[in-house]
Amino acid sequence: MPYALEKDSTRVFEKLLLSEKQAQTRRRSPLLCRTCATLVTYAESEIEVAGSTRHECVNPAGTSFKVVCYDMVIACTPVSLPTEEHTWFAGYAWQIADCGSCGIQLGWRFRSHSHEFYGLIEDQLIAGEPETF
Ligand SMILES: [Zn+2]
Repeated sequence: MPYALEKDSTRVFEKLLLSEKQAQTRRRSPLLCRTCATLVTYAESEIEVAGSTRHECVNPAGTSFKVVCYDMVIACTPVSLPTEEHTWFAGYAWQIADCGSCGIQLGWRFRSHSHEFYGLIEDQLIAGEPETF
């Protein structure tokens, strides 16, 4: 029956649309480099580390950073050798992480033996749509 067939394929198409929509929902809030507007990560990639997704961190020079933890980044590149010296997260070595496009420091990559995440400086990111993707 052509009618039944049509109905079935409509249903399949609706299912495909739905899963596409769900995929978009998971990655719907792009965060860009404040300096060059390159896509850096998504708000949905924020993860909890050491009991919180956000941390107020002070470096040995006394400078304070609002650091947000992400499990995934797109344009963010570690540029220094890993070290555990003065680390903000026990058991994690850190590396300075710069914007992959303009080179400004966005935060740090933190790595333990079994886990890795990025701690990005909140003020260096802005919400918005990337210009090209
Ligand atoms: Zn940039």
